Amino acid sequence: MKVLVTGGAGFIGSHYVRTMLAGGYRGYESARVTVVDALTYAGDRANLPVAHPRLRFVEGDVCDLPLLRSLLPGYDAVVHFAAETHVDRSLGDAAAAFFRSNVLGTQTVLEAALACEVGRVVHVSTDEVYGSIAQGSWTEDRPLEPNSPYAASKAGSDLAARSYWRTHGLDVRVTRCSNNYGPYQDVEKLVPLFTTRLLAGLPVPLYGDGSNEREWLHVDDHCRAIQLVLEGGRAGEIYNIGSGNARTNLELAEQLARLCGADASLIRRVTDRKGHDQRYALDDAKIRRDLGYAPAVAFDRGLADTVAWYRRHTERWPHPVPARAALG
Ligand code: NAD
Repeated sequence: MKVLVTGGAGFIGSHYVRTMLAGGYRGYESARVTVVDALTYAGDRANLPVAHPRLRFVEGDVCDLPLLRSLLPGYDAVVHFAAETHVDRSLGDAAAAFFRSNVLGTQTVLEAALACEVGRVVHVSTDEVYGSIAQGSWTEDRPLEPNSPYAASKAGSDLAARSYWRTHGLDVRVTRCSNNYGPYQDVEKLVPLFTTRLLAGLPVPLYGDGSNEREWLHVDDHCRAIQLVLEGGRAGEIYNIGSGNARTNLELAEQLARLCGADASLIRRVTDRKGHDQRYALDDAKIRRDLGYAPAVAFDRGLADTVAWYRRHTERWPHPVPARAALG
């Protein structure tokens, strides 16, 4: 089995690759994995084993069709994680990079997979493509109403995937997951940013009144779900991956403060993000019913383990580490 993983040096992709190389996915214990990653600010080669007999790392751009066409012959599957992912960045000057990497990059991956007759592609997408929902939850057939440039670029990539399936018969499956947390995430994102700052006794910025609600899923559960879709999903299908674990941003910040032993007064309200989606909620009955998916990591334990990981890994902190926090 040969699997090409794009964006495998990032948060979720690297978790997927480490798990596969460690034999964590039955039937894939001897799989050979090639990672293609451009090593943007969010990608870190150190997230992957330095040397592993079944891992090949290629520094490259998913918009590079000749590169992908040179790599893909003989591969059984592509798992496509590579994307620009930080919503805040997509609101500023970096918006073009989102549409380039996420829309053109996905179309390039699909084109290369088609040309090289790759058996299956899993396109990793997000619940943010649905927009914001006041009540209830989204099923996979809900219309896409993305609000941020990030979400719009991911929605574009989902539609590119659909078109390659409908037009060319490429076996591509799309996953749409809720917010992930866990180790190895870039420290710009909410959980690692708040955790490392709270551990250091520094204030953290909470958008607006903190009432925005997200479902949180451990990265390990997300990756297991992706693997289920790779193995048992159906071509052209979309699978929501949720947790049922909803928290407002304020509740999450308060829980992180408790876990870090920090005072809740360090949570400081700041001007709300432009166009901030109020609430995301997924109906993931389909993947539970069809593929037997169920999250395994309890939120309280998973979040505590995540905080403990960032406490240990002070080399990842973007700011000086006070002696007290490191010993913590
Ligand atoms: P991340 O930002 O941590 O990692 C993205 C990786 O893609 C990085 O290693 C980066 O270097 C690489 N990359 C970016 N542009 C590239 C390009 N043009 N060519 C090659 N590599 C490129 O992101 P993540 O949180 O691991 O997210 C992975 C995927 O999962 C994304 O597609 C994202 O939309 C999706 N997703 C993320 C979450 C979440 O909560 N983090 C939730 C649902 C879905």
